[in-house]
Amino acid sequence: MIKSHLKRMFSYFSRIYYLGEEVKRLKDGRIRPQVETSTIAFIVLFAFICGLKSFNRLERWLENKKFKKLLPRRRKLPRIDTIRRSLSSFDIDSLNGMHEHIVKTAFRNKVFRKGTIDGLKVAAIDGVEVFESTKKSCERCLTRVDKQGITHYYHKAVVCATVGSDPHIVLGYEMLEPKKDCCDKDEGELSGSKRLIRKLYKQFHHFADVIVADALYCKATWIKEVLAIGMDAVVRVKDERLHIVKDALGLYRNREADREWEVEDGSRKRIVVRAWDEDGFEMAGMEETKVRFIRFLEEIYEGGNKELKEIWVVTTSKNIRVETVWKIIHKRWDIENDVFRQIKTQYHFDHCYVHSEVGTEAVVGFMIIAFNLSQLYFFRNIRGFREKRLLQIDIMEEIRDEMLLIKNWVNPIFDTT
Ligand SMILES: [Zn+2]
Repeated sequence: MIKSHLKRMFSYFSRIYYLGEEVKRLKDGRIRPQVETSTIAFIVLFAFICGLKSFNRLERWLENKKFKKLLPRRRKLPRIDTIRRSLSSFDIDSLNGMHEHIVKTAFRNKVFRKGTIDGLKVAAIDGVEVFESTKKSCERCLTRVDKQGITHYYHKAVVCATVGSDPHIVLGYEMLEPKKDCCDKDEGELSGSKRLIRKLYKQFHHFADVIVADALYCKATWIKEVLAIGMDAVVRVKDERLHIVKDALGLYRNREADREWEVEDGSRKRIVVRAWDEDGFEMAGMEETKVRFIRFLEEIYEGGNKELKEIWVVTTSKNIRVETVWKIIHKRWDIENDVFRQIKTQYHFDHCYVHSEVGTEAVVGFMIIAFNLSQLYFFRNIRGFREKRLLQIDIMEEIRDEMLLIKNWVNPIFDTT
């Protein structure tokens, strides 16, 4: 018998994450709606999970009655305009509530019990652009002017996600806000990310042991914000003009490395890592707290070639082993490779589904929920998903095919009596 991923996935979502109840709680601002918000939410979520490419595709799916077998009998199906109207008036708080519920349940179910890197729970933070246009804009668009003087309108979010071992879960996001009357600049990534970690702390308390970020975040104000919520920061440093860099490199100049070890990366790549590691450096703007500065020198051997790479890291942690700090700084890329790239290639994150103040954020919110749920299904419900070398895209396609073939099935998402 062929196992049905569709049935199994939705029964998992309903049993463990109470998706039926959660979908029922969602609201939008349509007046006297003929189609229930829960129907629209289910369709949007399901479409993203199966790798929807555009709302034109979704319109065809609706016209061809592709969702009929997934919904209760006599349930009214929306037209694509109704979906657009619903998203553009969506109650973002209700959507965030659903996201929060899923992440809280994941924490409660001990998804990160063993930590994500050497026993530590590590989250990365980074910015990602949603889409851009030179023609259409809305009240919440950010703007930049290119060399030719053309204005580009875009939306951008800061995202926080777990990195290291699977599943990678997006803990939260914040949309960056456009310039207000009082100042002439759009909100920066740094200030958006402070807002984000404060919100995440309020929602989930100790959501990570360590937050890792790239060189943009090597600022005292940001590091203090991380310390204030009882977490440690691991941040890349690139600016050689900084005093702390000059101080540290000066100190390390005529000194043997403090640690040296070897890492096998696959069958062909070998890295010899040397680390110079010292605590007690002063950082501008961080008077009370001293930080640790680590210089990594990597000798990378691959297919007869040798390459040298130098990485500088600042961390507030006094006791994380230097080998672990090295892993953390490399695993920071998971947010780019395993989260952003995936939502871009499989969910078409940078495609403009709906362009409006609320609609754009609703699409981002639905995509992140779809991403988290599918990661939880792949890595928590399918035993040995990684070891079996199963591909997420194959399962998504299987599910899409199944929706037409499925018979005599009561979708547990709508069976919440
Ligand atoms: Zn806009």
